[in-house]
Amino acid sequence: MYQEKVPTVIIIGAGPGGLTLYHSLIKNKDKKEFNVKIFERESGPKDRWQGYHVGFTSHGFRSLMNCIPSSVALNLPKAIPNPVPDVEHHGVSANDHEGNLLLRPPFKQFKNIYEIAETPDRFLSMTVAYRDRLRDVLLENVPVQWGKKLVRYVETNEGVWVNFEDGSQEFCDILVDASGVNSPVRKQKLPELQINDIGATYVVANIVVPKHLMDRLTKTSGNSLVQKTLGLNGDATLIAFRLISIEQEQNYENKNNSDELHYRTTIAYFYSSELDNDETEKIKVDDNNPASVVEHVKNMIRKLRPENEMTDILLELWDLAPKAVPKESENYPFKTYNPIQRRQIRDINPLTINSWTSSRVTLIGDAAHAMSPLLGLGTTHAIQDAEALSQALLNYSPENYISCIKEYENKMLKRAPVDVLKSRDATINHITPVGYFGLIIRNSVLKTTNFLMKVRDLVMNII
Ligand SMILES: Cc1cc2nc3c(=O)[nH]c(=O)nc-3n(C[C@H](O)[C@H](O)[C@H](O)COP(=O)(O)OP(=O)(O)OC[C@H]3O[C@@H](n4cnc5c(N)ncnc54)[C@H](O)[C@@H]3O)c2cc1C
Repeated sequence: MYQEKVPTVIIIGAGPGGLTLYHSLIKNKDKKEFNVKIFERESGPKDRWQGYHVGFTSHGFRSLMNCIPSSVALNLPKAIPNPVPDVEHHGVSANDHEGNLLLRPPFKQFKNIYEIAETPDRFLSMTVAYRDRLRDVLLENVPVQWGKKLVRYVETNEGVWVNFEDGSQEFCDILVDASGVNSPVRKQKLPELQINDIGATYVVANIVVPKHLMDRLTKTSGNSLVQKTLGLNGDATLIAFRLISIEQEQNYENKNNSDELHYRTTIAYFYSSELDNDETEKIKVDDNNPASVVEHVKNMIRKLRPENEMTDILLELWDLAPKAVPKESENYPFKTYNPIQRRQIRDINPLTINSWTSSRVTLIGDAAHAMSPLLGLGTTHAIQDAEALSQALLNYSPENYISCIKEYENKMLKRAPVDVLKSRDATINHITPVGYFGLIIRNSVLKTTNFLMKVRDLVMNII
C-alpha cells in the first residue's frame, strides 16, 4: 500500500510564536503528522536577556492553552503566577499626570490563571506574564537546534531549501518564519513590506521596587497590574508589575539586610522622538551609557510634568534602574541585565502591500506584524497565529498546501493589522501634547468611555 511521506515543517525562531507552533503541531500529530524542526540563532537558552513583563489577553491565553500539552500547561504558573486575591487587579488603567483614574476597563478577574481561557468572548480578561520564564516553560521538551541563524531560503516546486549562516542547509515542505521584527524571511519574501518608524521613542527598564514605594504607587494610581500615566506635554509612562514579592518566590535568596519586601517591576517611558532633536538640551544622551539614559528620562519627566506625588514616584522608580550589570551581591532577581537605551518604536502593517502571495513560506508573530509595545498585544497575536496556522495545517496534503497557508494568512491578515494600527494610534495619542483645553477634552472622553464600558459590562452580566 502507498504510504504518504510525512511532510517536514521548519520553524525559524524559538520565541513565543515559534515554540507555541511547535507544541501545537506535535499535539495534533494524531490528526496530522509532521516532522517538525525548530531552529534558533541564539547559542542556547541562556544566551541572552529574555525580556520584561508581557501582557496576555484572554484570546491569547486561550490559544496558548489550545496549543500546549498538559505537561507544559501545568508549569504555566511559574511564568504567569495565579492572582493574589484582593491585592492585584488583573487589568490596565490609564491615569492622569497626578495618578487620578481616567479609564479602567472592566477586566474580568479570575481565581487561577486557567480560568482566563474560559472567559467568554464578550468579556475582557488579561494578565501579566514574566517573559523570561514564559520562554523557559515553553522550551520544555522542544528539541531546539541552537546556533542556527537563517540567512536565506530558496523555494522550489518540490519544497524549500533553508540556508544557515554556518553554511548548513535543510529541506522542508513548509517554512514558517517566527524570527521577529527583523525577519530575514520577510525581507526576502515581501521586500516591499517595510518596517515603519512611528516617531515615538521609549526607554524601558526592569527594576526591583521596595514595598514602601510600591505602596505609594498603588495608593496614588491604584492596583491595576498595567498602569499608564498620561502626561500633558507629550509623554506617557507604562508600569507593569505583579504584587508577589520576590522574597516569597521559591529559590530566592534575600540579599537585603532588611525585612522589607520587593517587587519585580517593568517601567517604560514613551515620548515623541522629536523631543530628542531639541538643540537647547544641555545633556547629551549616550545610549551606550545607561546612567546617561536614565538621567535623560528623569530630566524629561521633570521638564514635561508638574511637581506632584505621581511625578515624585516616577522619578524614584527611575532612580532604581540599574545603571550597569548588577553585582552578584545585589538584590537583582532578573536573570540577565539588558542595558537601558532609547529605542525607536517600529511596527509593520502587513496590509500596506498590494498583495500577499501564499506559498510554502509563511510568517507568524512579529515577523509579519510587529506592533508598538504600548498595548502589550504582540505576544497574544504571535500565539493566536500559531494556533491558526496549526489548525489550518490539519488539512495539509501535497496538493492543497497552498490553500492551508492561505486560510491561515487570511485569518491573520484580518486580525493582526487592526491591533498594529490600534497600538500605533494609542502610542501617537499618548505622546501628543494636549494643552490646557485638550487635557479637559481628553480626560472627559476617557472618563465617559470608562462609564460606558462599565454600563456595557453590567448589561452583559445581566443577559
Ligand atoms: C529578547 C526579547 C525580549 C522581549 N521582551 C518583551 C517584553 O518584555 N515585553 C513585551 O511585551 N514584548 C517583548 N518582546 C516582544 C514580544 O515578546 C514579541 O512581540 C512577541 O512575543 C512576538 O513573538 P515572536 O515569537 O513573533 O518573536 P520574538 O519573540 O521576537 O522571537 C523571535 C525569535 O527568533 C530568533 N531569531 C531571529 N532571527 C533569527 C534567524 N535569522 N534565524 C534563527 N532565529 C532567529 C530570535 O533570537 C528570537 O528568539 C521581546 C522580544 C524579544 C526577542
